[in-house]
Amino acid sequence: MTNDDGIHAPGIRALASALRQLGTVSVVAPDRERSATGHAITVHRPLRARHLALDFADQAFAVDGTPADCVKLALEAELVLRPDIVVSGINRGANLGTDVLYSGTVSAAIEAAMLGLPAIAISLDDLRNTHYEPAAEFACYLAKTWHNRDLPPDTLLNVNWPKNTPSQVFVTNLGRRRYSNTFDKRQDPLGRDYFWMCNNVVDDLTPHTDVWAVAAGHVSVSPIHFDLTNYRLVAEVGNWQLALS
Ligand code: MN
Repeated sequence: MTNDDGIHAPGIRALASALRQLGTVSVVAPDRERSATGHAITVHRPLRARHLALDFADQAFAVDGTPADCVKLALEAELVLRPDIVVSGINRGANLGTDVLYSGTVSAAIEAAMLGLPAIAISLDDLRNTHYEPAAEFACYLAKTWHNRDLPPDTLLNVNWPKNTPSQVFVTNLGRRRYSNTFDKRQDPLGRDYFWMCNNVVDDLTPHTDVWAVAAGHVSVSPIHFDLTNYRLVAEVGNWQLALS
């Protein structure tokens, strides 16, 4: 398990506690909040992993790097035994549509998929609620279900849990989220301008997208992969007959 809210976040505690019903839980997570670090990795300084004794995990390491660093370190430096599945979360705040490109939570799951493991990212659409248990139980159920089914490699499931108690699960495709008035321009005490990024979300509520499902109060499960190729355009750009002079 990992996350991007840091190893001491309530979401990781709830998720680990639930996943222990299924087996041994190893947690390798950032030592502080690393939200919105995307798929960044640390290459210009050493990484350190500090062993922690946590009551909710069989084994835990706090890493002074990003979520993707945590997954790489856990698997490639064999910090823990190779797991059957990697679960990232539960994130404080939804990761819908284009959010997945900025999200450390989802990027950690993508890293796990790149390293050949089944992976689930799970996020709660509420910045204040600390009631993570229902989403944690669902993550267990989903992990168990996946264990008995086949999905192609390089695939992960991105789960978003709505604010209020849901009654339905929708399997969705990624939607679009735009942010309006993204920057608040302010002045510091010396009269110099500075900018603060804010989150005024404008959701595109096209049916059957993850954005739509969560806005309608449902649980969203999106199978995603990381091949960003626009296959429809490969032939068209091929027709440009690009050449070197
Ligand atoms: Mn986060």
